[in-house]
Amino acid sequence: MFYETVQESPRIAQKDYATAFSKGLVPDEENTWLGMVFRGSGVPLEEHPCKDRLHMHGCKNCGSDNVLVIYAQWSVSTHSGDSYWDYEIICNECRMFTARSFNEND
Ligand SMILES: [Zn+2]
Repeated sequence: MFYETVQESPRIAQKDYATAFSKGLVPDEENTWLGMVFRGSGVPLEEHPCKDRLHMHGCKNCGSDNVLVIYAQWSVSTHSGDSYWDYEIICNECRMFTARSFNEND
């Protein structure tokens, strides 16, 4: 199942993402090949290490690619091999937040 939402405030990222991190991209210390989380104040789509794996693209509200990725997580189940991911972007044009989530097994 694939979910996509547009909101005026972050849905997945923490509300203070813009000030809570000193860097645009902060990998979680527990990241492994089975799962990874990236937080931060945001990096452009093309600079994000998950951009291909998570099929990242631009703002759902206005269509702009001028966005920053502020949260991304990806994981795979060792039991089923199914993958799960979420990411959230803030649009530099319309300032709306687009969150997308994917769950392979439903
Ligand atoms: Zn936009």
